[in-house]
Formats: sequence, C-alpha cells, structure tokens
Amino acid sequence: SGRRRISILGATGSIGQNTLDLVARDPVAYEVVALTGGRNVAQLAADARRLKAGIAVTAHDDLLDDLRAALAGSGVEAAAGSDALTEAARRPADWVMSAIVGAAGLAPGLAALETGATLALANKESMVCAGPLVMATARAHGGRVLPVDSEHSAVFQALIGEDIAAVERVIITASGGAFRDWPLEKLATATPEQAATHPNWDMGQRITIDSASMFNKALELIETKEFFGIDPARIETVVHPESMIHALVGFRDGGLMAHVGPADMRHAIGFALHYPERRALPVERLDLVALGQFTFRPASEERWPALRLARAVMQEGGLAGAVFNAAKERALDAFIEKRIGFVRMAEVVETVLDRLSAQSVLNVDAITLDKVREADHLARMTADVVM
Ligand code: NDP
Ligand code: MG
Repeated sequence: SGRRRISILGATGSIGQNTLDLVARDPVAYEVVALTGGRNVAQLAADARRLKAGIAVTAHDDLLDDLRAALAGSGVEAAAGSDALTEAARRPADWVMSAIVGAAGLAPGLAALETGATLALANKESMVCAGPLVMATARAHGGRVLPVDSEHSAVFQALIGEDIAAVERVIITASGGAFRDWPLEKLATATPEQAATHPNWDMGQRITIDSASMFNKALELIETKEFFGIDPARIETVVHPESMIHALVGFRDGGLMAHVGPADMRHAIGFALHYPERRALPVERLDLVALGQFTFRPASEERWPALRLARAVMQEGGLAGAVFNAAKERALDAFIEKRIGFVRMAEVVETVLDRLSAQSVLNVDAITLDKVREADHLARMTADVVM
C-alpha cells in the first residue's frame, strides 16, 4: 500500500515538534496532508516545505499574508482562521495528531474523527470538555482515539491484554511541578516565570504552569475517567518527583502494572504513531542503578486545590468539565499577564463552577459541540467578572 497519510494539528508546539521529529526520520513512510500552527508562521512554513505538506494553516487570519509569503513557490497551500483549521483536519488522513493547546483543539479533533481517522490525542482539553462526544464520534465513524498524554499512554499500555473489569484502581503520577517543595505560605508570591520551569519535562508554557498548580493533573484525572470509563473513586494520583513511573494500574489480584520510561514525549507519541506495532524509538534507555530510587509523596489537596475541584467536576459530569477548563484557561491567562496571583487561579475556577452550577448550566442530556461552546463562553465571561 501507499504512504501513510498524516496530519498534525498544533505542529509548531512542543508535542507537534516532537511528532515531526519522529516523522522526519522516516519521510518516505508518510504523506503529510496538513500541518497547523498559531503565531509561529515561520516554523510552520519551514516544516511544511521540508515535509512537502499538502496544506499549512495558521489559526490567525491576520497572519495569512505572512504564511503565504513564507510558502511562496513551495507548492504548499496556505490558509488561515479557525474554520480553515477545522477544514484541514477534515482532509482524508489515516492518522491525525491533536496537539493544539486548549479548548481550541476540540472542533478540529472532532472533524478528524468524523472522517474515520485515528486521532492521537495530546489535547487533553478535548476529553475534559467533551469526553463522551469525542468517544461517540470515534465510534460512529469507525475511527479511534489513542492517548498521547504520557500517563494515559502508560495506562493504555498497562491494560493491553487485560480485562477492564479486573481493574481495581488507576494511579497517575505527578511530578509536583515547580513548587512541590515550596512552603505553602510562599505560593501566593509565585510568579509566572517561576511556575514555567518544570523539574523534569520540557513542555509548552501553559501546561508547565498547569503542572505547578496541578491543574494539569486535575485535567488528567478527568481525562482518565473519560478515556477509560473508570469510576472516579478508583482513580488516584501520587506525587513522584522523578517522573519515571508515569502511571500504575492495580488489578483485583493485588498486582500493580507500572509503566516506566524517560521523560521524553516521543515515547508516547511514537507508541500512538506505530500502534498496534511497537517500533524502535530514539529515546534514552534508563540506567536504574544510576537513578537509584523512585520516591512517592501524597498529592495534597491543601497545596493543590485543583485536585479537589477535579473530583467535584467528575462527580457533576455534564458540562462541568467544559466550564472547569474554560475558567482555568482564563485564570491562567490572567496569571500569565500578572493580573492575578498563583493561588487565586483555583479560587476563580471554584467560584465560576459554583456560580454556573447554581444557574443549572452544567446539566445537559447530551454533550454537543454547540453546548460545549456555550458553556465555555459563559465560563470565560464569568471568570472575567470574578477576577
Ligand atoms: P505548545 O504551547 O507548545 O503548542 C501549542 C500548539 O497549539 C502550537 O502549535 C500553537 O501554535 C497552537 N495554538 C495555540 N493556540 C491556538 C489556537 N487558539 N488555535 C489553534 N492553534 C493554537 O503546547 P504543547 O505542545 O505543550 O501542548 C499541546 C497539547 O498537548 C496541550 O493540550 C497539552 O496539554 C498536551 N500535552 C502536552 C505535553 C507536552 O509534553 N508538551 C504532554 C502531554 C500533553 P503557535 O505556537 O504557532 O502559536
Ligand atoms: Mg501528562
């Protein structure tokens, strides 16, 4: 058969660039259908040229001329705007990487699933905002969703050949982020620059700050519930500062299957790219003796209130995830712009959840893209009022 058709949504980001690294090692194996990016038009154009993509799309209309200029004479089509992005995701492909950051990744990911493609999902926000819709869309069109988030890839791998009914618990680990050793009183003074340095992983700015606040782990708890259909009471998190064990699955016979690997996203991306095969990947091989030890600490809800909020969201269901994520995105914007402090983020999200819950916004019969968009919009407006 011919080359494997792939598209990468969010190609200019951290996950996108790691995906391109793997793809570029074997260019004859792949036909790159579409690459999308945001502000980094120079990177987008360079990658689209190098990999002879069919189309390159920036999310920003005002950057279309820049993108066109950067692609002149290359034969790569150029487009801009969120509709163009979703249209590009709809172009026939076998495998689509969903690596846009934030709720903006939902519509293009759904569009890819509607074509029956396999969606490699790094964009956890899709699962948090609309997990049931994402899974139903995959089922309805004969596509499938493969996890890319390292913890979820780890759980997925630990479950291969297992009966889901035999699962007693799922434990996802957390590094604890930049402030895991800070005294609690000092957290209120934390700056965006301090929060954006991660002890183990090299990731985009937003997810790195979300690691420090544990909003990232909160999103991942919800993602675990939605992805694997596991009862929230069976989903745990533990702080594991070495970030070597990504997740553990506990079975009813008392056995725990742990997934261990270096903090390199190319493992989880490559696993999803080659699944169901397990191919060689260019990641470091761990020297356990040199590492010496793996340690664990409790994930305190006092230090990281986002974890408590995730429990409430899982309990509530419906549009609570969409509201939670949108309020978090606005609070994070405000923190990055130094309009609110680090500790205030969780307070804002909690207030927005409480208000919209009291207004009965969270309950719906079925989650649709329109309803998610409405809830997302309302949550952002409410967050702005609260701040
Ligand atoms: P980055 O910030 O590095 O990259 C985000 C990508 O999305 C870039 O291509 C960016 O374009 C694009 N983008 C930003 N805003 C928009 C928008 N409004 N519409 C369309 N495209 C947009 O993020 P990461 O790669 O770190 O993360 C991507 C996703 O993967 C997130 O959901 C994150 O939670 C998840 N993830 C990331 C991990 C990691 O190791 N980085 C690990 C696990 C999950 P540009 O840069 O050109 O502006
Ligand atoms: Mg993760």
